[in-house]
Formats: sequence, structure tokens, C-alpha cells
Amino acid sequence: MRIARFVHPGGVSFGAVEGEAGAPPDALTVAEFTGLPMDDEVRFTGQRWALADVRLLAPIFASKVVCVGRNYVEHAAEHGAEVPAEPLIFLKPSTSVIGPDAVIRLPPQSRQVEHEAELAVVIGPRPVRRVDRAGASAGIFGYACANDVTARDLQRKDGQWTRAKGFDSFCPIGPWITTGVDVSDVEVRCEVNEEVRQLGRTKDMVFDVPTLVSYVSHVMTLLPGDVILTGTPAGVGPIVAGDTVTVSIERLGVLENRVATLD
Ligand code: MG
Repeated sequence: MRIARFVHPGGVSFGAVEGEAGAPPDALTVAEFTGLPMDDEVRFTGQRWALADVRLLAPIFASKVVCVGRNYVEHAAEHGAEVPAEPLIFLKPSTSVIGPDAVIRLPPQSRQVEHEAELAVVIGPRPVRRVDRAGASAGIFGYACANDVTARDLQRKDGQWTRAKGFDSFCPIGPWITTGVDVSDVEVRCEVNEEVRQLGRTKDMVFDVPTLVSYVSHVMTLLPGDVILTGTPAGVGPIVAGDTVTVSIERLGVLENRVATLD
């Protein structure tokens, strides 16, 4: 199932996206349901809209976004860095999350903001704590596209990454959560103004998804809706005001965001 959160003329709802996987957005509809996506049962209201007639929001409420650095060999190499011996994790604040079509705002503190296309893992419906790989797989609700937007100059300058990774709008997630899908070998692509900048496959991760979820769960309890960004393939590069940046992951959809200066 593809679960979206969206604004319609009557308010904000969750719904299931209907239509062929990979079909253009104007061929899709969204069917509203009541309750939360991770409830044992959701109840469809019978209301549905053309996807083109609603505005999608970030599909989850995350208490935290846990990120993994240097999880693709070629990306580590492009920064002249070694692949870590165990997952290198850091946090983005929940306030950095934005949805599809929302605007990435370039802060005045940075002169070098870059895109990082990543597979996002969404946790749920129960808290995940100190699990093995099997428990990790069982603790995953679904997947989405994400962009780990990074102020590269501040990342170098600060020595730790909270500021560089944490600005408001620096974590686009969407366009929806896809459940029941195998993402162990899917293409991760990033385009800026329709030019391909990153093209990788999830099978090339240094640490795979169950390993990452298990590893993080031995540090902090993962709550329903929490997100793990699984690292970016090679090809990261700058985005500037006026750009349109698109993260697309096979089987999960397309996440598009414009870039503008923070006024
Ligand atoms: Mg990243």
C-alpha cells in the first residue's frame, strides 16, 4: 500500500494512493481513510480525489530522523573518506522534515548546500529496541524517498554535523510511504533540473537495512514514525536557488522539491 498525507478542500487526511505503480501523478487517485496509518485497521471513508487535486504533505510524524553517513563505498571515496567499520550515525531534527513540493530553503550561513538522495526507512507500528536483524525487518513499516540536504561547508567547518544537517527544510521525505515492498536492490536516482546527478543501487550499501535498524535500535529506541536515512550514493553536488531537485527510487515514487533562498 502507498500511504499519503494530503491537504484537500475539507482539511488534512491520510489516504491510500491508487493506480498503477509508476503511473504519472495525474493518473493516480487517493482514497481517504480515518485513523492513523499504523493502526491495526484503517477505515476508508469512501472519499477520493485525483492526486493532482490535492497537496501532499510529509507522510509521517517522526520524533527523530536517524541518518547513516558513508554507507556507499563510492560516496565515501568522493569525500576522500574511509568506509566506517560500523555504521556512522547522526541525527536530523524533526523540524527539518518537509513534504513533496515544499521548498528547500538555503540558509544565509552556508554557501554550499548539497543534495543527498537516500532511501528512507519508516519504523512502526511498535517501538523497536535492541532487536536483531530479523526483529529489525519486522519493525519496519515502509519506505520512502528522502533528501539528506547538507550544508557541506558547515559540515567541514563545525567538525560535527548538527548544524550542517539540521536546518529547517533540510529533510524532504515522500511522496508517500510504500509498505510491503522489497527495496534490497532498487535504483536510487537524484536529478537537478532534470540532469542526473546520482544513480546508485541499494544493494551497494555497506550496511544493509536490517543491519542499520538493528544497530540504531541498540543505541536508541525507535518509535513508530521514526525515520532512518540509509546513506547516499556517489554524485552529491550543489543546489542553488531556482533549482528543482528530484529524488526517485524504484518502486517508491518521485520526491520533487524546489530550492529557494531563505528570506
Ligand atoms: Mg546522507
